[in-house]
Amino acid sequence: MLEKLRQEVWEANMSLPENDLVVGTTGNVSGLDRDSNLVVIKPSGVKYSELKPEDLVVLDLEGKVVEGKLKPSVDTPHHLYLYRNLKGIGGIIHTHSPYATMFAMLERSIPVYNTTQADIFGREIPCAPYVDNQADHIGKAILKNYKEGCPAILLGKHGVFTFDETPTRALRAAVMLEYAAKTAKGALELSAALGKELTPFSEEETQKWYARHHGGGYGQEGK
Ligand SMILES: [Zn+2]
Repeated sequence: MLEKLRQEVWEANMSLPENDLVVGTTGNVSGLDRDSNLVVIKPSGVKYSELKPEDLVVLDLEGKVVEGKLKPSVDTPHHLYLYRNLKGIGGIIHTHSPYATMFAMLERSIPVYNTTQADIFGREIPCAPYVDNQADHIGKAILKNYKEGCPAILLGKHGVFTFDETPTRALRAAVMLEYAAKTAKGALELSAALGKELTPFSEEETQKWYARHHGGGYGQEGK
């Protein structure tokens, strides 16, 4: 069941190691089927190199497994909490991607330092304060600190969550977030080494890029 979504979620999971967003078996992607309200998610502790589409677990929004032999990701409660509480999302990714996690370790948001971040996110990437992973603590921290229209958030001392209409779009946010964090870290280091101030974009300049990227004209028609 849910073959198309299963394939998309599997491909997005496999893209995590390809894009150096995960180490070991950490990280997970899920997708929501809006018609049935069922979620497809990565199983717990399976190596990416051994992960097959049929290994993915299907569950309802309360966490009851309806298909699959393996245990779902330990992060499943956070995914389900977000699907239940964030309108319009159909794909979620959680990683500890290293550059974004460095900012999270300092509990620092990532200011808009380049056009790519302005294009994709249209604002600084917010950071939720540290919480443990018990009960709904992570889901609640995300809900309280995410910014409308921004598909990514850092989790203090932990990692990142991205969420968007589809798993594929959530993957794009995860990849672009890591790029933004990597270039920000490098530029901050250069700034200190060269004694040259690194200044973020103004809100007005950021919105110009964001509107142009999201308002048509970018990419191929009908995509
Ligand atoms: Zn985690």
